[in-house]
Amino acid sequence: MADQWHHYIDGHSQAPSSGEYLRSFDPCAGQAAARVASGNAGDVERAVAAAATAAPAWRSRRPIERGRILLAIARAIRDKAAELADLERLETGKPQWQAPFEIEIAAQYFEFYGGLTNVFQGETINLGAGYHSYTVREPYGVVGVITPWNAPLNQAARAIAPALAAGNTVVAKPSEFTSGTTVALAQMACEACGLPPGVLNVVLGAGDVAGAALVSQPLVRKVAFTGSVRAGREIGRIAAERIIPLTLELGGKSPNIIFDDADLTQAIPGAVRAFTANAGQVCLAGSRLLVQASIHDQVVAGLTQAVGALRVGPAADATVGPLTTEAQYRRVRSYFDVARQEGARAIVGGELAPDEAWREGWFVPPTIYVGVRNDMRIAREEIFGPVLVVIPFADEAEAIRIANDTSYGLAAGIWTRDVSRVHRVAAAVEAGQIYVNEYQAGGVETPLGGYKNSGYGREKGIEALHHYTQLKCITIKL
Ligand code: NAD
Repeated sequence: MADQWHHYIDGHSQAPSSGEYLRSFDPCAGQAAARVASGNAGDVERAVAAAATAAPAWRSRRPIERGRILLAIARAIRDKAAELADLERLETGKPQWQAPFEIEIAAQYFEFYGGLTNVFQGETINLGAGYHSYTVREPYGVVGVITPWNAPLNQAARAIAPALAAGNTVVAKPSEFTSGTTVALAQMACEACGLPPGVLNVVLGAGDVAGAALVSQPLVRKVAFTGSVRAGREIGRIAAERIIPLTLELGGKSPNIIFDDADLTQAIPGAVRAFTANAGQVCLAGSRLLVQASIHDQVVAGLTQAVGALRVGPAADATVGPLTTEAQYRRVRSYFDVARQEGARAIVGGELAPDEAWREGWFVPPTIYVGVRNDMRIAREEIFGPVLVVIPFADEAEAIRIANDTSYGLAAGIWTRDVSRVHRVAAAVEAGQIYVNEYQAGGVETPLGGYKNSGYGREKGIEALHHYTQLKCITIKL
């Protein structure tokens, strides 16, 4: 396993020009894992220049040929899945069940978009006799991709695959905490799959240095950002100044609504997975559970039992791993004090001291709060850890009101057997993803994005392709 990560620029591994390095950590042990190149504006400029040089040849390729390379990358990811999963486990602490699943999804992004390189078709527009008018979809040129630490390869692939499919070249800046798999992807793509040098580059380093420099580079014509609202705002300011398009995939505080006619044998384990998968470090996490008052106590009892059966810790067969960064660990634990001050009651987790076995790592116990009002901080702020708040509601109208009483709008879950209610509630809830009777249902084919402070633009599905191309209209007087 590499103990040092360098930039990958123009088909080569490159040391940081400053000679400086950051540290990544093993969250299961709370100890340093690898040295990570600390990129500066000069490094970013070199990467962007390489991407700009490679752009004309890449966009001129026959789309089917670009597709063939993307499919080769999908195969290579699958061939190296075990290695990539180990790498990702080391940097994120993901349990054994989770990392391979996310690596497989990364392969699927290349598979899906590799098969779609020919859908960038324009249309002809009828202006009557005497004119011929048509549109073409063109790539932007160099696209900057900035990603967080919670699902590193998965989120990098989610943006890189459609950007390349559309004929753009890419400079990616992964999170400084989880650089390994994005570098490994670029290396594999260029050295084993036929991706020309410069088409996919990776610059490492801190967000406010390398990330901000990437958004500011004049040759970067579009940015896809996944991360916090705070950084999204900062990037948005630079993008507004430069007048470049931006896709923002930000946070959430998603309502997961259980009605009294739901199948609780599905809804209860579904609600537990919705807030504990990846130790709750999921933008889409169902972290606000709205439960119809008539079944509140029954659901709470079921949740308590289901959470009690989870295995938390560093073991490969754990169901819930650690938080990925020390800062996140401290932040999540600080909400235990907030909850106490606000008068919420933990029915599992919260105050409980972590088990001796996982004292060294950044683990927090899955925690469920009852006695929560939607105006409390624990119900309004994205905690990004395995913490659930349970809020009762009387009827459908109140469920919708509470669900929408948030600054976010990324996702919502609905559990009911009433198909008319499904349509009413799905239409009324302000969120980019609605999941019915299975939280986080969907795949690489289904578009993803936010309402309100959860962002704008869309990733995944055919919809994402529109965000990686610009439309040109050509009108000829005959
Ligand atoms: P973060 O915003 O701190 O960092 C994300 C990335 O942005 C990192 O690569 C970081 O280095 C970079 N960055 C930070 N500040 C920057 C700046 N000023 N300019 C340019 N780049 C900058 O977020 P995080 O802590 O890594 O991730 C957690 C957040 O990401 C959560 O809020 C979560 O909800 C969100 N997230 C959203 C999605 C989604 O698809 N909507 C998916 C995963 C995570």
